Amino acid sequence: MPARQQLDSTTKHVALTSHPPSKQRTSVTKWQDSLRHLHALRTSTSPQPPEERSKSPLPHCQAYTQDSGITLQRGGVSQAMEVGVHHDRALEISLANPLSKRVETISFDNANGRVLANPLTSQVDDPRFDNSAMDGFAVRASDCEKKPSTLTIVGTSRAGGSRPPAIGPGQACRIMTGAPIPAGADAIVVVEDTKSDQDLVTILGPARTGYIRRRSENLSKGQEALPSGVTLTSAALALAGTMGYGEVEVISKPTIAIVSTGDELMPPGTKLAPGQIYESNSHALASLVESMGCHAVRHESSNDSIQDLRATLDNLSIYDAILTSGGVSMGQWDLVRRIMEEEGELSFWRMRIRPGGPPLFGTWKEKPLFGLPGNPVSSLVVFHMLVAPWIAKSLGYHEDMGPRISQKVSVKLEQNITGAPGKLCLRRIRIRSENGLLLASTHTHQGSGNIHSMVAHNGLTLLPPDTDGKAGEVVDALWLV
Ligand code: AMP
Ligand code: MG
Repeated sequence: MPARQQLDSTTKHVALTSHPPSKQRTSVTKWQDSLRHLHALRTSTSPQPPEERSKSPLPHCQAYTQDSGITLQRGGVSQAMEVGVHHDRALEISLANPLSKRVETISFDNANGRVLANPLTSQVDDPRFDNSAMDGFAVRASDCEKKPSTLTIVGTSRAGGSRPPAIGPGQACRIMTGAPIPAGADAIVVVEDTKSDQDLVTILGPARTGYIRRRSENLSKGQEALPSGVTLTSAALALAGTMGYGEVEVISKPTIAIVSTGDELMPPGTKLAPGQIYESNSHALASLVESMGCHAVRHESSNDSIQDLRATLDNLSIYDAILTSGGVSMGQWDLVRRIMEEEGELSFWRMRIRPGGPPLFGTWKEKPLFGLPGNPVSSLVVFHMLVAPWIAKSLGYHEDMGPRISQKVSVKLEQNITGAPGKLCLRRIRIRSENGLLLASTHTHQGSGNIHSMVAHNGLTLLPPDTDGKAGEVVDALWLV
């Protein structure tokens, strides 16, 4: 049995910013021509991949030589796959198969980090009654105009204590922060501005009406204060408590399975044979999945074998969604793409972004499946650009206050940055704040295999296709949190 590892659900917080799905379809349905072309390529002298070919009319290796969007149909049935889609379109396509949103009611004690399924309206007025903002004396302001003036103390009002006595002309009541205002009082004198001796208090400073916190000045009973999709972190949690919720309805955490693919991959900490490398993507992806408010289940890596992959994907289809890493490019052993073409439902392959061009999306046994690239930077970038917003939109996360792992910002470039022909260019940048501006610079080489670049930087440019960024220019970027 393959080992599975259930991660602890430490929840951090996230969401991607506005990239509204475009209605524009980039694909062209010249599929008969494409199939003829692809068939010619398949029957050419390409070396055989490790296992027998299936009957798919789609190519297994070199067929896709163009990035332009095309829609292909396979086996004569109307199963369309778009190739080389823009980022907005990729999100739109994947949202046709969203995560299913389930709701559960949990004790408020366990609500930290969970995401509200429905808006919360206050069950009480806040404050519930007029009370003092300061320790001091509740007085009638008109009694304190002359300085000093001396008043008779008629009692004490304390938080949680019994109802304080009313005060009349020439009288004062000792009062503590949060304690109810006695009837007859309309102002507070802070204790520092008084001198008291037994039953008398001498008023030396101002009597302030502003130190009375009025009933419902923060919230009225029935008022909506927390929208759905909000993460219950410190302040939101305190607000839910203030509003009286002993239980809250939250979005059930979906479970997302993660599997890396590749014969070369070995768990960190083991001894490597020649040609092997340490597997790291599944750990990074699991961390991001958890940060997006979901459970992550890491599966042990799958070999580059159709049988192994099929068995693994079948095993993982009990979960709500599957993320694979590796095996989606043009290589002979890129079998995730092949098995999805032949046995799964493939909606798109390749996205017009750099890095992170080769991802795919489809379903395996009706479960949404993202095939992420194996290059460590690409796999994380595609998660940020595609998987995170897909999770957020599927589950109805609040755009600003829901779980998020990035924030769209404008940055001033400190150096020239080369864009990418025909692709949204996501160069890694380090964003820092200086004199009220966010400045962006690059520090390591930008190879998609260089995971160090994702640690040395904290953001990605969002340079539109065919656009270079010039030093001094302000451009859109994604600040990774
Ligand atoms: P692939 O997408 O399978 O062609 O892999 C592209 C590159 O990423 C290769 O150099 C792989 O060795 C590397 N790679 C693939 N999967 C992982 C992984 N899970 N962890 C680290 N590196 C990987
Ligand atoms: Mg591989």
